[in-house]
Amino acid sequence: MKGVAILGSTGSVGASTLDVISRHREALKVVALTARSNDARLFEQCIAHRPEVVALEDRTAATRLAERLKAAGIATQVLRGAGALEEVARLPQADMVMAAIVGAAGLLPTLAAAQAGKRLLLANKEALVMSGSLLIEAVRASGAELIPIDSEHNAIFQCLPHTSVAGRKPAGLRRILLTASGGPFLGTPAEKLCSVTPAEACAHPNWDMGRKISVDSATLMNKGLELIEACWLFGVTPDDVQVVVHPQSVVHSMVEYVDGSVLAQLGNPDMRTPISHALSWPERWESGVESLDIVGLGRLTFQEPDLARFPCLRLAQQAARAGGTLPAILNAANEAAVESFLCGHLNFTSIPVVIEGVLNCVGAMPVRNLESVLAADHAARQAAAKLISRLEGATPDPVAGALA
Ligand code: NAD
Ligand code: MG
Repeated sequence: MKGVAILGSTGSVGASTLDVISRHREALKVVALTARSNDARLFEQCIAHRPEVVALEDRTAATRLAERLKAAGIATQVLRGAGALEEVARLPQADMVMAAIVGAAGLLPTLAAAQAGKRLLLANKEALVMSGSLLIEAVRASGAELIPIDSEHNAIFQCLPHTSVAGRKPAGLRRILLTASGGPFLGTPAEKLCSVTPAEACAHPNWDMGRKISVDSATLMNKGLELIEACWLFGVTPDDVQVVVHPQSVVHSMVEYVDGSVLAQLGNPDMRTPISHALSWPERWESGVESLDIVGLGRLTFQEPDLARFPCLRLAQQAARAGGTLPAILNAANEAAVESFLCGHLNFTSIPVVIEGVLNCVGAMPVRNLESVLAADHAARQAAAKLISRLEGATPDPVAGALA
């Protein structure tokens, strides 16, 4: 019996993880769940899975949950505050930690799970983008197992030799073909992009995901973050990774070897496949995902990404090549801009303008320690707030940039 802690259990990946676990109660036990503030959802999850510990960042929500659990006669311990997430990530009863918090908020608990030598199921790509060298170092030092949950990286992991080591390029690997759906605006003309709404941006054609990653998919920043993620996970350079738009989201990514062999992992777009793979690895378990109807699909297509309409991918490629704290700066600027877009304060096409402005004005440094990453994140958020307040309501030219 293995114990599983889920950081971010009330989100999209968290819910899919609980779905897979509920199919394997003889082998897996939920020991801890966490959320930011959704105590109502967490209460339902406590009823269904009876974790030993839960943690909420929001203290008022934590108090409410503790009262409801007590009234229901459930003995789950309730922790509160941001530090509680790290405590959960280190729980001795947790053999595996699913890192499914969205954004930089997941960095410290994800690092804590790596330092504690857990099997780390990594969905929280932002943690790796911000602090890739530190996270990979922590995994190596503690002997943790790092299994990517992001569908593309899980696909790549599945196509690489079993003997691969986190952060080290496997022998014989020529390049990675990282597939992208293209998002909901794949065919939208450039002049229409400035007026798209948060609801349209969140209506992904193939995947049902949280709002932040849905917007990232619409801007193609998600693929940019995934490029940086791939470089850290598999020890490759940005030039070893080709982004390929594949609107059907059936080929989850490909790996090319020096002999010309290209291996791909295919499946329906359902996160329960990578989640189940990581929970059961190296075995294979039932995940609840339907068989792929390849004949029904008929055709799979591939094309180049359009960097002029989707400048976020170009900005991420630049940050990936520059390294140091620049990916952390890119990530923080993106989080701030996306939040502002989701609140209706910023246009869709202003997102890359904010990010480019922040990249140009916040100086990058080498990543020496966690403090340098957190300082870069803080400086980028301050710079982004200033740019956002200047841009609110404006309609910049997506290619030239309003601040040029
Ligand atoms: P989501 O918004 O649905 O859920 C986010 C979870 O994080 C929630 O449980 C929320 O309570 C928690 N959270 C948010 N802010 C927090 C904070 N400040 N402190 C503590 N907890 C906090 O997001 P999601 O779609 O499940 O994505 C989670 C992560 O997985 C992201 O990094 C995303 O990029 C990655 N990912 C998601 C998918 C997908 O299909 N949804 C696919 C690949 C990768
Ligand atoms: Mg992905």
